[in-house]
Amino acid sequence: MTGSNPNPLLDLSGLPRFQDIRPEHVETAVDTVLAESRVEIERLVSLEESPSWANFAQPMEDTDERIARVWSPVSHLNSVMDSPELRTAYEACLPKLTAYHTEVGQNLFLYRAYQGLHDSAEFATLDCAQQKIVTNALRDFRLSGVDLEESAKQRFKEIQQRLSQLANRFEQHVLDATQGWSFETRDPDDLAGLPESVTALAAQAAHQAGLEGWKFSLDMPLYLPFMRYAKGRELRQRMYAAFVTRASDQGPHDAALDNAPLIAEILKLRYESARCLGFDHYALVSLETKMARDANEVTGFLRELAARSKPAALRELAQVTEFAARRGCPVLEPWDLPFYSEQLKQSLYQFSEEDIRPYFPVPRVLAGMFTVVGRLFGLEIRPIEGIEVWHEDVRMFEISDTGGQVIGRFYVDLYVRANKRGGAWMDDCIGRKRTRDGVQVPVAYLTCNFSPPVNDRPALLTHEEVITLFHEFGHGLHHMLTRVDHLGVSGINGVAWDAVELPSQFLENWCWEREALDCIAGHYETGAPLPQELLTKMRAAKNFQSGMHMVRQIEFALFDMRLHAEPQEVFADAAPRLLREVRDEVAVVIPPEYDRFQNSFSHIFAGGYAAGYYSYKWAEVLSADAFAKFEEQGIFDPETGRAFRQTILEQGGSRDPMELFVAFRGREPTVDALLRHTGLEA
Ligand code: ZN
Repeated sequence: MTGSNPNPLLDLSGLPRFQDIRPEHVETAVDTVLAESRVEIERLVSLEESPSWANFAQPMEDTDERIARVWSPVSHLNSVMDSPELRTAYEACLPKLTAYHTEVGQNLFLYRAYQGLHDSAEFATLDCAQQKIVTNALRDFRLSGVDLEESAKQRFKEIQQRLSQLANRFEQHVLDATQGWSFETRDPDDLAGLPESVTALAAQAAHQAGLEGWKFSLDMPLYLPFMRYAKGRELRQRMYAAFVTRASDQGPHDAALDNAPLIAEILKLRYESARCLGFDHYALVSLETKMARDANEVTGFLRELAARSKPAALRELAQVTEFAARRGCPVLEPWDLPFYSEQLKQSLYQFSEEDIRPYFPVPRVLAGMFTVVGRLFGLEIRPIEGIEVWHEDVRMFEISDTGGQVIGRFYVDLYVRANKRGGAWMDDCIGRKRTRDGVQVPVAYLTCNFSPPVNDRPALLTHEEVITLFHEFGHGLHHMLTRVDHLGVSGINGVAWDAVELPSQFLENWCWEREALDCIAGHYETGAPLPQELLTKMRAAKNFQSGMHMVRQIEFALFDMRLHAEPQEVFADAAPRLLREVRDEVAVVIPPEYDRFQNSFSHIFAGGYAAGYYSYKWAEVLSADAFAKFEEQGIFDPETGRAFRQTILEQGGSRDPMELFVAFRGREPTVDALLRHTGLEA
């Protein structure tokens, strides 16, 4: 495969050729790379010699990498430059890729070859990254059911197929129920309290539906501000009831979209598949690829956090209840809570996000962020020109060591536009590895959806958006600063799911520090620094209702873990019963009887978070505790910065995350720093 290949997706000689890639290239490129991979797998399973790193594991890595390199720009473009042609091509390839991966995952010959390498004398001579790649591979083969009896293997495969179907249907029901309900009005009185940006969105929604007036749906950009700002209590109640009964037999929805039977079947099949693999329950399967050792460790962790945040949550609830009562709402119902919380917040802190924006123009924020990170980790970051990109807004930067050696590159695509998926994320374009020709420099995509510049004025960010940018750059540094020579565990590859948010949440902390803000903030007209008075208000508001927020997250996480960790007698009844128990234990706000939150909990029933929702809080403990060391030593202490870079950022998935954390912190993590940072303990 060379630079002269007519299909640009098959040209892996450098950065993706974004200007040449067309939808018609996608399927042929995928067909080609999968066919070549199958030939290579065929060759590897019929090796004459016994498997070694060089003759077996390395070629397996190379095969995986080729597929990933071909697919990465396709999947990236599908997210940021969606078109009907590209979407069709993308969807046509998904089942082909899945089929290939299942085939490889259950290939007994490959499994035995890894086992042979693991048991050979050579294994002890491999470096820790190579050893980790081999043991990860063995684990993943086992979790794919490779060593089951033929009939059990067949059953396992059927379960997996059925589960992926159920997950897809679960998500579709949630989507259809969300979009299937709305309320329309022509009465301006119904809009009382709503900001102009929200009513404009609702007017646009009505217009698109061929209606006059305003249309409010259950989509987040309309639902959340409606609950927060709308003065009409009955309307809020209607919205709330429709929202919490989505995809259920309750409320105003089509009963055909009820997810309860799906939940029961998903739980039953997950349990069966876990038993099939020899585990007591599904949580143990999920935890095989995570840092936490068993379900008890997770529930113990969540319960400790709950015990230490519930008193604050109760105080916060009492405060808002009393505030609402003084404003003529004697009984604070769940549909009143966001509304009075917002009112209370404004009356306590006296500022809005609009006051902050002018201090965060994008050029200043980017340059400042690079200065902060440069000082912390001893790096230099500068733009590079003349790179092929997918949109004129996209820029590329290069990271070099103080010695001038280039160690990473990244694309930055900051602004919202049509045909670009919402949210913010970091993705892997090229990973680091060492070859005979030297080191392959890692490349990352950083994608956000900020408001674009208007006329001559630069884009101005909210503080929330600045934090998002730091968060994604933290993931980016984890990917790019790695020193691991083997792709399977370099950068974020092979990092346990519950540890992967450590570098990202960690970097967010600098957005609250005066010394860092002096780098990243400056008024877009005058260059004036962020006023201390405003920063003081921002800091005071940072932990508004953090106790209530904490116990709500714990409620979801504990429910998820118990649901997958306790062998169920009757699956149909498990979810509602456990949710009630968990709420009695940790929640401070108990929803009404008709609430069916679990029916739209896509994270665990349709996403990858089953017995893993706790990961968010788990990684937050690590990141807060890691940052606490900087608080102790100075937030720009070069020694501590170097230690973080060397022990965490450079190691990728090559070593156990707890080992890495202890190497940095000198001890295991505790929840104290997180509780202090969220204002829950002094
Ligand atoms: Zn993240």
